[in-house]
Amino acid sequence: MEVKLLKATEDPEEVICTGARNDYMSDFVGDQSFEEIMESVEGDDIEEKKATLIGHLLSHGHFGPFEHPKAVFAVKGISRSCMAQITRHRHVSFDVQSMRYVSFDDIDPDEVGDGEMIVMPPSINDPDWIGRNQKGGAVDEETVEKRREVFKDSVTESVESYQELLDLGVPPEDARFVLPIGTKVNMVMSMNPRMLMHIADMRAAADAQWEIREMTETVLDFAEEWCPLTFKYYNENMRNRKNRLAP
Ligand SMILES: Cc1cc2nc3c(=O)[nH]c(=O)nc-3n(C[C@H](O)[C@H](O)[C@H](O)COP(=O)(O)OP(=O)(O)OC[C@H]3O[C@@H](n4cnc5c(N)ncnc54)[C@H](O)[C@@H]3O)c2cc1C
Repeated sequence: MEVKLLKATEDPEEVICTGARNDYMSDFVGDQSFEEIMESVEGDDIEEKKATLIGHLLSHGHFGPFEHPKAVFAVKGISRSCMAQITRHRHVSFDVQSMRYVSFDDIDPDEVGDGEMIVMPPSINDPDWIGRNQKGGAVDEETVEKRREVFKDSVTESVESYQELLDLGVPPEDARFVLPIGTKVNMVMSMNPRMLMHIADMRAAADAQWEIREMTETVLDFAEEWCPLTFKYYNENMRNRKNRLAP
């Protein structure tokens, strides 16, 4: 998997603060400099004032201003399973690579079991991997070898059948029905910091699946650089709290 930040709103925390200050000012924020907008907020300089206001907003559950900035990410090579999970989040915008228009007719079926076209879950190769709700513990090398064999045979057969159906004139949109849920897909997604915090709550948590957790952790790393005050507060005060709804 690869995650890249494509574009993001410049000065996102200035945008958040301006939106929030608008709610409590008689003057029009559109006519004022950012320094004037922040004048009455506690702090010795503008960074301190931003930190004060952002902490205040998050601690009071005033999340609306965190919807104004937006970040756009390109994600390469996640499974269709992971894609199904992330696209459940209704306030994220997506573009998903089409299997109607992109056919995988040039892939060597012998290589798909090595992660070329299908995501290989770590539990196939890692004898110590313990899944959620899984009974039992580590397995021996012989079992791992068998797992690899079953996985590889199964995905190779799927891809061979897919390519055979294409050769028989079946359109890619129908031939894809035989492909596994681990088939890789590329995606572009955009979201605001409020949604990013919500996704982090749900998808970076210990009970989320490893793949979406990995993707969310990478997105969070970008977010910490993009909105440093917001995600510092989030990490220190909000992450891992109980009984959250949104974000
Ligand atoms: C560990 C884990 C296991 C899961 N297992 C399953 C499963 O087995 N089956 C399954 O179907 N799903 C499963 N899900 C998905 C989960 O139920 C949610 O559908 C998904 O995470 C989207 O999150 P969300 O409901 O917060 O909605 P989002 O779309 O992310 O919306 C964010 C917030 O906006 C508000 N909101 C959005 N739309 C509405 C609305 N229509 N009405 C009221 N409020 C709204 C809610 O407060 C919501 O929390 C799982 C999720 C996790 C993290």
